[in-house]
Amino acid sequence: MILLNPHSPNRYYPDDRSRQIMLQTIDFFERKGKRSIKEDDRNRTWYGDFLEFQKQNRLFATLLTPAGYSFDADCRWDSWRNCEFNEILGFYGLAYWYTWQVSILGLGPIWMSQNEALKRRAADLLREGHVFAFGLSERAHGADIYATEMCLTPQPDGTFLANGEKYYIGNANLAPMVSTFGKIAGTGEYVFFSADYRRPNYHLLQNVTASQNYVAQYALRDYPVTEGDLLSRGGDAWDSALNTVNVGKFNLGWASIGICTHALYEAIRHAANRRLYNMYVTDFPHVRQMFTDAYARLTAMKLFTLRAADYQRSASPSDRRYLLYNPMVKMKVTTQGEEVINLLWDVIAAKGFEKDTYFEMAARDIRALPKLEGTVHVNIALIVKFMPNYFFNPAIYPPVPRRADPQDDIFLWNQGPARGLGQIRFNDFGTAFKGFDLPNVSLFKEQTSILQEFLATATPDEVQQKDVDFLLALGELFALVVYAQLILENTRIYQADVDDDLLEHIFDCLVRDFSKHALQLYSKPSSSKRQMELCLRMLYKPAFDAGRFGRVWEQVHALMNAYELT
Ligand SMILES: Cc1cc2nc3c(=O)[nH]c(=O)nc-3n(C[C@H](O)[C@H](O)[C@H](O)COP(=O)(O)OP(=O)(O)OC[C@H]3O[C@@H](n4cnc5c(N)ncnc54)[C@H](O)[C@@H]3O)c2cc1C
Repeated sequence: MILLNPHSPNRYYPDDRSRQIMLQTIDFFERKGKRSIKEDDRNRTWYGDFLEFQKQNRLFATLLTPAGYSFDADCRWDSWRNCEFNEILGFYGLAYWYTWQVSILGLGPIWMSQNEALKRRAADLLREGHVFAFGLSERAHGADIYATEMCLTPQPDGTFLANGEKYYIGNANLAPMVSTFGKIAGTGEYVFFSADYRRPNYHLLQNVTASQNYVAQYALRDYPVTEGDLLSRGGDAWDSALNTVNVGKFNLGWASIGICTHALYEAIRHAANRRLYNMYVTDFPHVRQMFTDAYARLTAMKLFTLRAADYQRSASPSDRRYLLYNPMVKMKVTTQGEEVINLLWDVIAAKGFEKDTYFEMAARDIRALPKLEGTVHVNIALIVKFMPNYFFNPAIYPPVPRRADPQDDIFLWNQGPARGLGQIRFNDFGTAFKGFDLPNVSLFKEQTSILQEFLATATPDEVQQKDVDFLLALGELFALVVYAQLILENTRIYQADVDDDLLEHIFDCLVRDFSKHALQLYSKPSSSKRQMELCLRMLYKPAFDAGRFGRVWEQVHALMNAYELT
């Protein structure tokens, strides 16, 4: 099984310190225990204990300081281990994950900057245990960052005065370096600069949310900024905003995986021990179906995201495929997370509302992840740009292996201009399907071929290409193909953990999903007769095999006593 179980953590690490960090973190939360985690959640208690723990053990410092700015040999930005740290935090509570996540976002424009003094300062602050913040969003502008109003006005002495407000900014209540995005007055040139919440003209206005987190509204009113506070300007500032989000959105998938894994353990324990009508809840056929789907979907989420991390770590100026896979982690994995929780909640019903369950938090928090770092829509609108090259213009790349090596992922700070997405090419996705002689994998491949036929022979016309509603439906079908590709690639790597039965059930789900999205595309107001015919041809029923289903169900049922947070 590839799912995290904190009672038997088994992820491979090439070094002791990485493993120790994960074990220490698990130990912190296990000692804190469910009652305390839940009480803090209910009372919206600031997670000072967690921040003190990470400070004492220099966790963020070790994990988030690139080797070039390190204070000891264990520091590096290593996505392999950061992935599991993300997952562990999500497993125990999204609030703990959030303070880490926005620190990552805040550090993005810093590590991407040419300002060496600010980078050294960030490294020192990390070592002292501080957190960081990313001030991009503004109240009035949502996803439209072109409309940013935060403004730096040049002064006669060469300095600037900053004026403006930021909204929804995590950690902005206590981060000594709040990476703030704005424009230079007069020229409209983009700029990233570092603001310090302790300075006089920095006004912390409110916590926008009612949660354990501090998601700030802050204002800068004639806040003095010197050249030394500038992180980047012009195109570099714009690119570092987008390139930081490329890195940050990847973590959202891991938070979903952590949440769903914990919720699965709790749900199966409850259902498998609950007797109704003289039988166990897990004896109902529909309950078995829901659990088996949830387990398969969660395994698929993890297979995909692990593989996407390999591509992220192997990225270079000549291989930018991660720019498709990372938004997929964001939009696909997090929405699958919602689906997993929906399935589990249908089973455990009233239990999911109880104040003493982890599930109660999971059911609320899982909804956040599709909405952060750009909504699902924004990310689908982004990925459809890749579709022509993905399907019709493959390239040859050297194989990408599993990337568990202790590399410092410095490419993330040198991603280059955040444009040219339509030029990025991919390896032939059909290769991933070769060698899998399984009914549902084959059915899915057939559906994929019809989608290609749709694109080649019933290509969306000019009006449809501007119709975001139509493109979102098409994008869901495209996303499924990419999802399947990376799942298959990773099944080869994780073959000891994912047997043919489980893979078949994953594809059972994917065939159904493909049919569902094909029907949605069919129903769009502008779909043509030919497009509708092709959509109907994409409707497939998965191959059912009672023996296979039963064996996967047994894998889920075996988790009934696997883990409990006491
Ligand atoms: C708890 C929380 C914490 C956050 N933390 C931070 C933080 O630390 N730093 C930070 O900078 N921001 C932060 N954010 C802001 C977050 O990134 C934004 O909420 C997100 O980018 C979406 O913006 P919006 O919710 O204002 O939606 P809007 O941008 O107002 O979108 C409205 C609707 O239009 C759609 N839409 C918008 N643009 C497009 C497009 N191009 N294509 C298709 N559809 C589109 C959206 O999908 C949505 O349905 C946080 C938000 C929350 C809720």
